[in-house]
Amino acid sequence: MSTAAHLTSPLPTRLTAADLEAIENATQSIGRRLLDEALSAQPTPISPDWWVQQAGEWATGDDDLKVRLFRLVDCMPMLDDPAALDRHVREYLDDGVVERLPTALRMALQAARSGVLAPLAARAVRAATLAQARRFIAGSNPDEAAAAALAERRHHRAFTLDLLGEAVTSDDEADAYAAAYTRLLTDLPPQAAHWAHDPLIDDGIDGPLPRVNVSLKLSALDSQFDAVDPRGTSDRVLARLRPLWRLARDRGAQVHVDMEHHATKDLTLAIFRQIAAEPEFRDWPHCGVVVQAYLRESPRDLESLAAWARGRGTPVWVRLVKGAYWDAETIHAEAAGWPVPVWREKWRTDACFEASTRYLIEHADALRPALGSHNLRSLAHGMAVAEHLGLDRRGVEMQMLHGMGDPEKVAVTGAGWRLRVYMPYGQLVPGMAYLVRRLLENSSNDSFLRAGFVKHVPPATLLAPPAPPALSPAGSTDAAAAVAAAAFHNQPLADFSIAEVREALQREIDAADRRFAAGPASVPLVIDGVRTAAPESFERRDPSSRDRLLARVAAADAAAAERAVAVASAACGSWRARGFAARAAILRQAASIMRRRRFELAALEIAEVGKGWREADADVAEAIDFCEYYARESERLGRPVRIDVPGEENVNGSVPRGVAVVIAPWNFPLAILTGMTAAALVTGNTVVMKPAEQSSLVGLALHEILLSAGVPPAVVGFLPGRGEAVGPALVAHPDTALIAFTGSRAVGLEINRRAAEASAVGGRLVKRVIAELGGKNAIIVDDDADLDEAVVAVVQSAFGFQGQKCSACSRVIVLDRVYDAFAARLAGAVRSLRIGPARDPGARVGPLVDEEARDRVATFIDLGKRTCRTLVAVDPGPLAAAGWFVGPHVFADADPLGPLGQEEIFGPVLALFRAADFEAAIALANGTPYALTAGVFSRSPARLARARESLEAGNVYLNRGITGALVGRQPFGGYRLSGIGSKAGGPDYLLQFMVPRTVTENTLRRGFAPPPEPA
Ligand SMILES: Cc1cc2nc3c(=O)[nH]c(=O)nc-3n(C[C@H](O)[C@H](O)[C@H](O)COP(=O)(O)OP(=O)(O)OC[C@H]3O[C@@H](n4cnc5c(N)ncnc54)[C@H](O)[C@@H]3O)c2cc1C
Repeated sequence: MSTAAHLTSPLPTRLTAADLEAIENATQSIGRRLLDEALSAQPTPISPDWWVQQAGEWATGDDDLKVRLFRLVDCMPMLDDPAALDRHVREYLDDGVVERLPTALRMALQAARSGVLAPLAARAVRAATLAQARRFIAGSNPDEAAAAALAERRHHRAFTLDLLGEAVTSDDEADAYAAAYTRLLTDLPPQAAHWAHDPLIDDGIDGPLPRVNVSLKLSALDSQFDAVDPRGTSDRVLARLRPLWRLARDRGAQVHVDMEHHATKDLTLAIFRQIAAEPEFRDWPHCGVVVQAYLRESPRDLESLAAWARGRGTPVWVRLVKGAYWDAETIHAEAAGWPVPVWREKWRTDACFEASTRYLIEHADALRPALGSHNLRSLAHGMAVAEHLGLDRRGVEMQMLHGMGDPEKVAVTGAGWRLRVYMPYGQLVPGMAYLVRRLLENSSNDSFLRAGFVKHVPPATLLAPPAPPALSPAGSTDAAAAVAAAAFHNQPLADFSIAEVREALQREIDAADRRFAAGPASVPLVIDGVRTAAPESFERRDPSSRDRLLARVAAADAAAAERAVAVASAACGSWRARGFAARAAILRQAASIMRRRRFELAALEIAEVGKGWREADADVAEAIDFCEYYARESERLGRPVRIDVPGEENVNGSVPRGVAVVIAPWNFPLAILTGMTAAALVTGNTVVMKPAEQSSLVGLALHEILLSAGVPPAVVGFLPGRGEAVGPALVAHPDTALIAFTGSRAVGLEINRRAAEASAVGGRLVKRVIAELGGKNAIIVDDDADLDEAVVAVVQSAFGFQGQKCSACSRVIVLDRVYDAFAARLAGAVRSLRIGPARDPGARVGPLVDEEARDRVATFIDLGKRTCRTLVAVDPGPLAAAGWFVGPHVFADADPLGPLGQEEIFGPVLALFRAADFEAAIALANGTPYALTAGVFSRSPARLARARESLEAGNVYLNRGITGALVGRQPFGGYRLSGIGSKAGGPDYLLQFMVPRTVTENTLRRGFAPPPEPA
């Protein structure tokens, strides 16, 4: 479990204080020798190492320059066209930035730019960048990598080869990754048999070590690698991993499993343990896994690995590293509102590395220690511990990365320790993520390499034991914490990488199953707190499994609407009198009930509308956000504003509109119904809630929560039913003042018309309509885009919840130069999506909500097949007989003005368009009557600026998916035919539910007035 309580357990040790003191003394002397040796071999300005260090150095201390340089570096491999290259260099290194470059580089760029040499200068920058990338990459193919590995052996250094390939988006790519390792493990060991024996690197404690050693990333063995589904992921990974392990074992090679992000750490360890304990591998010692000391929970992982390895009976290798994703882990956790899994201070990571080193060496019979670091203090400490405990040097090894710290490698090898070099190889495009990680490390103030070899920090400081810095900025931290606490925070999504979290949702799914197995639920009308049946009712079935009857739902009619409005109308005065603060308190109480019942509500959504695990959880979290956010906002907006002058008092306040009708959709069954209802209630309106007929159970749950939170029964009525039967009566009723609707364009426009007519014909007020309608949203993929990210985001935006979101991507517009490459990768990724019942955490595509939705989507698919080129058409197979399943489809060459280019489909259907240039792409994106969401993937600052300004959508997303707007952070809503009203979850939303009112009093009596109130 990854909760805070488990993060900081110290590792047990048999070492005494005297042992530790002796180890520290030895660390100092070993460290000093290594450092002296390495410094004497330090790179000179003519060596590539020097340039690598300098590049990091230029970027350090100037965050803007650092970001620009790293971003430019990142897109370089895509820029093989000279004009595009020149444009990007100019955009990233514009005149303002060039001024801040080191003199030599600045003068070179300025001279080149002033004349015909501009393209040459750009090409020089690209060549230099790619050369730098190649510094860290040991070759572009297995032959080059093998040659580089052999070169290392000539320096008496062992190697481990790693094939670059982090973003695997399809089964084909995962197969290709496995195939590349198969080739490597087939071809290299026979060659290695002829290499000369080198005792320093070939002799292990129990005999010869494999000469061929490979490292691999488990996430690259499965396109759907996801901790939410450990069983499915493990099965698929193991199916590709077992043959590789067999091959390695049979050919006498070693396989090491790398560690990636924290979210996949537990799953990676579990898969490693599973395969290593299988009977065929149980006695195989030549396998290993990485532990990252920057993770707070790494001590616990080490202890559990040691206990497991003892049970296995054969040791495994543990490569102890500090961790390569520190920035990403910190940013990701902070953005998600999760506990940050890494230590926040560098000295803690170092201390954890040293404690883990001691632990590993003390348990070297079970866990073979491999210490991966370029920090000579960390390594010297490891050497000192090994010597102190009398561990044979052949039983431990030091490891470093290719292209980093070469002088240190000379020092470590020279001191007689086995050193293994980690050598990534492969193409530059997948290698850029790796390169940027290396650049980040090299330019970090906390880097040992930078401190020792660029900043020339004194040896005593470099070799000092890890300890807190003398000065801690406690004051500023407290102030920052106070500001942060006052701000609105989104409810963090569930972290399904944590086993307990997965189990909690599974328990609720099982509990819901038991309830439904006992018989269908019954959903009544609730008016004035009284639950009543209706003359008519309808059935709601599980869309994943339509044989399962979930509920019988009372269908409200016009008479029920009349009663509900009458009750709500009568309750207006008392609810208004409650005041903003009391109503806000009730919303907060509702939020806290939802928090308590979070997984129960999510399980209900999974059953009732077919939402997948993450989508269902996100919907509940958003509902909580709406309650909390609108509670805060109502207190801000509800506070009357005084503008007094002598003799005159002015109070600008607001009053509620009256009875609000809330008509909600099923696709965000809790969040949208909660959002509209909470906004109406907190501003003092009474409400008649009409949930979608497909999500009446969730609607009823919300109604119960609101009553338990303290909303008086007369203030919120609950009218399930068919929209066409009850909707018109509510909209046209003379006593309803406001209609908040989210749903289809046709129904929204009809409501708007009906409300206007009712106001015109004998009404007492002009009804206010807030309508959130559809979208025909596009993502543009520019020709310099990161295709890995674009494919993942398009797939998520188009097929998340089967495309049944108004924000979903239903058009992707790709620039000509990358169209074919993108289309091929997209097709592979979409074909690899797993279809399954919503309750299956591994299902990426679940059922559509009902038969009508299935049939409607089917007509678009028929049309696509007849009029377009079918790129992907996935058949759901036997699932189609069980539920309302439709496989994902992608169509190319659709008519932009035809139905696939213009109409909202609300299903897993995506149309792919080719654009000649960026302007054409923008024109295509804007070429529908909708304006809801839109996105762009581009690495050109100028084009991103152009998209910012010209994409017509209420929510424009740059370099990310276009769904999943967060309350407060991304207020949501569109314009044109996408809706009327201001954005949900934004600072203006509540104003629509209130009527502004000004009261002015003349306070002058016979020449005397009280002093004005301060504003
Ligand atoms: C052979 C080998 C294999 C590797 N395999 C992996 C792998 O599978 N997975 C992986 O993640 N990494 C891996 N690494 C990368 C390794 O984690 C980085 O190279 C390493 O983090 C750099 O640390 P250092 O000990 O060389 O240098 P140092 O300069 O001593 O430490 C830098 C490290 O300290 C940590 N750090 C930086 N700032 C802070 C801070 N403010 N608070 C807390 N900690 C901080 C970070 O981990 C950073 O990388 C591997 C490294 C080697 C040598």
